[in-house]
This record gives sequence, structure tokens and C-alpha cells, in this order.
Amino acid sequence: MKRLIIANWKMAPQTSREALRLAQGIARGVKGVKNVEVVLTPPFIYLLLLKLGLPRLTRVKAGAQDVFWEKNGAYTGEISTNQLKASGVRLVIVGHSERRALWETNEIVNKKLKAVLGAGMRAVLCVGEAEKQKEVAFPKIIRDELHEGLARIKKSLFRNLIIAYEPIWAVGTGRADTPKNVYEITTIIRRELYRMVGKRIASKIPVLYGGSVDEKNAHAFVKDGAVDGLLVGGASLNAKKFINIVKAVSEV
Ligand code: PEP
Repeated sequence: MKRLIIANWKMAPQTSREALRLAQGIARGVKGVKNVEVVLTPPFIYLLLLKLGLPRLTRVKAGAQDVFWEKNGAYTGEISTNQLKASGVRLVIVGHSERRALWETNEIVNKKLKAVLGAGMRAVLCVGEAEKQKEVAFPKIIRDELHEGLARIKKSLFRNLIIAYEPIWAVGTGRADTPKNVYEITTIIRRELYRMVGKRIASKIPVLYGGSVDEKNAHAFVKDGAVDGLLVGGASLNAKKFINIVKAVSEV
């Protein structure tokens, strides 16, 4: 399976000029890298810019950090799967812990996953426990996120599903998890997916790790953590660091 690295730019950078420069710098830097798919997820406002500004033949693609579940209608401030598709987007992150911290429940995540997968796009479902849930509610919290998030979704749509294991305490903190821990938890996740949809479909679902990934730890997460790729936040805003992460993973 080709490794997948997704850059989550969150609410940065502040100007379109910087966004374009960053995207082009990354596209140039990863040009010759094989076996790794790179997807940049900028704020919505830069999506078209990336579509127009990245050379057609670049391997770097654009994805979205979020979406609304209705296809059209009077929903002020929201963005639909139709609009994303028209802007060249084929991958959407759903249920990021920073959105869950604002107001997103498993029920909302489920509506969004249905919309994205139903529209034939790839969905990255983020799951992970908070620090205080580590002892008490783990791994139930992750099982609930999987089962409730993916409830009543046709098995055939799971072919476009990606799971990102992102322990909340590791996201944006500089305190990455260990590859050993990531291996153990993603094994639980894979086992749960087997139970839900059977081995044939589940074995094709990429499972990623995210949480303070940098140039130094990226290789180990993929090699020893045995994940299929990475979701990178902070370090993806620095072209040099992000290119090094992609290169490190291509060498695993
Ligand atoms: C993220 O935004 O999903 C993330 C993992 O952020 P960071 O790499 O900064 O921890």
C-alpha cells in the first residue's frame, strides 16, 4: 500500500500569497519522492488557489479539513461536498479533535462521513483519547468513535475510508506518542474494523497516526508503529520540515 501523508494546515497561513508559496515549495520538494501520496488540506479559502497554482502534473493533491453534511440549501457559512468536488477536492478530514472540542459529536461526525463517502470522496475519520480518558475510558472511547461515527454506513463505502489515530494530548503539544503505543492502539483499531466490515474490506483501510509528528519521529511511526501514513499539523506549515517527513517515510 502506498503511504499517505496529509498536511493539516488548520487556520494557517494568514495570506493567500503564503499559502501558495508553501504549497508550491512542498510540491517541488516532494517531486521525485516515490511511494508516498501527499495531500495538503488548507483552509477552504485557499482550495481554488491550490488547484490553480499547483502544476497539473504534481503528485500533491488538495483536501479539506471539514465539510457540511447537506448537499445544498440555506446553511449560512457552510461548505458542501458538491462545492468541494467542484474545487478539485477528493479527500476530507472528518471529526478532527479540534472540531470535536468545539461542538462536534459522534452523531455529527456520522452525518459528515455519510455525506463524504456517499459523494464518492475519501474520508479521514479522526479518533483518539484525551489525557484523562487514557486510564478510565480507553479503548472504549475509540471503539465508540468508530462505531457511532460509522453507524449505518454501507460496507461498500468503506473502501474510501481512512482512519487517523490522533491522541488528543499529542495534537499540537510537541508531546508525540511512542511508536510502540501507536502500534498497540492501531492494532486494536484494525481489529475493530475487521469485526465491523470483515477482513477483506478492513485490511484495505489505511490507518494513520497524527500528533506532534516531526522530521525526527516520522520514520519510526511508520516503521515501528506500522501505520500506513501520517497526519501532520504544525510541521506541515514549514515546507522544509514537511518535505523531510515525506522523504523519511518514503525510505521506510
Ligand atoms: C493535527 O492537526 O492533526 C496534528 C496532528 O497536529 P500536530 O502535528 O501539530 O500535532
